[in-house]
Amino acid sequence: MLILVINAGSSSLKYQLFDMDEHKVLAKGLCERIGIAGSKNTHTLADGTKIVTEVNMNTHADAIRILTDRLTDAEHGVIKSMADIDAVGHRVLHGGQKFSGSVIVDDAVIAAIEECIPLGPLHNPANLTGIQACREVMGDVPQVAVFDTAFHQTMPEKAYMYAIPYEYYRKYAIRRYGFHGTSHRYVSAKAAEMLGKPASELKIITCHLGNGSSIAAVSGGKCVDTSMGLTPLEGLPMGTRSGDLDPAILGFIAEHEGLSTTELVNMLNKKSGVLGISELSSDFRDLATAREEGNHQATLALEIFDYKVKKYIGSYAAAMGGVDAIVFTGGIGENNKTARNVALEGLEFMGVELDPEKSQQSLKNVDISAPTSRVKVLVIETDEEFVIASDTLELVTAAKA
Ligand code: ADP
Repeated sequence: MLILVINAGSSSLKYQLFDMDEHKVLAKGLCERIGIAGSKNTHTLADGTKIVTEVNMNTHADAIRILTDRLTDAEHGVIKSMADIDAVGHRVLHGGQKFSGSVIVDDAVIAAIEECIPLGPLHNPANLTGIQACREVMGDVPQVAVFDTAFHQTMPEKAYMYAIPYEYYRKYAIRRYGFHGTSHRYVSAKAAEMLGKPASELKIITCHLGNGSSIAAVSGGKCVDTSMGLTPLEGLPMGTRSGDLDPAILGFIAEHEGLSTTELVNMLNKKSGVLGISELSSDFRDLATAREEGNHQATLALEIFDYKVKKYIGSYAAAMGGVDAIVFTGGIGENNKTARNVALEGLEFMGVELDPEKSQQSLKNVDISAPTSRVKVLVIETDEEFVIASDTLELVTAAKA
């Protein structure tokens, strides 16, 4: 079965075509600057060959037409026509309280995703545009929505409620939702597989550390807490996002700097995090280089990040009454051994012991803890697109049966 996975942003559209029978990606690509001058498509074949085309794309439907051309191209194409594609799976940011799993898209689902727009004002409209564009160009091929928030819907009330007047929950559903759910779900299941134990018997802390970072506590295969909240701004400091802070700071800055609420939220999303502290870069590689050169603010930014990861790990071990495994994933979690090792330093009291050799290497899908470590430490490569394709395959197959 061939499944097309779409991740539509406001001016971009990422895609991957999976052959699920062969377990492989046939081609993938990115359409950028949709609706903006200078739009282009970068199409990557299975052997890594990249085809870059500068082409006018005014709408997401134009982007779907371009990827159709690439996928069916006489020379580099991987399918004869789009009719070869059995189903489309979409990444959707916010499913609110309505979706605790993936669903086949119909008019009611589209209406429910629209209702979640106030909770995900930047992403949900773009995700819907991707769904509509596929309908427009590909007709009635089955489509599936996979939500970033769904895995976290098992959090208990005490973990997801904010201590603000209850009426805001009642009126606007203000609560913690959590994000990166597809990744936390995938790596926690993969960890159970690597440990050779059923997920139902394990307490796992999953650290998805990338440009956006979040940590989740997964007990018995179910998420019981996570660091992101109503929006992906809460929790760890990130590339450009502040993470947790004293909310009174907002009033203080607004008053002294004359910022509007929109400007404040923009500052917290785009100018804060490790970029804000270092005044240098949001990229951890740049910060590591600057630290080597003795840059104090870059060093501090990295220290704050590692310290916060450690604190979340400690608090989630407490929340679950123990931990069997800590998983690292995402661009930083998978590649930045210093961030991992520093975040785990001093956690020997909890039973975390790193293997001195493996923890210094850059391997993926490995256990980097010492054989004597009570808590296993795993580095797992995440694959959100594969989960979206798998959910799509499962739902579409079940619907046909
Ligand atoms: P996104 O959240 O946008 O998907 P990623 O998961 O790709 O982001 O993570 C981006 C971060 O990962 C950057 O800060 C980058 O420095 C870091 N990163 C990516 N590759 C490496 C690497 N090989 N070594 C160290 N850090 C890396």
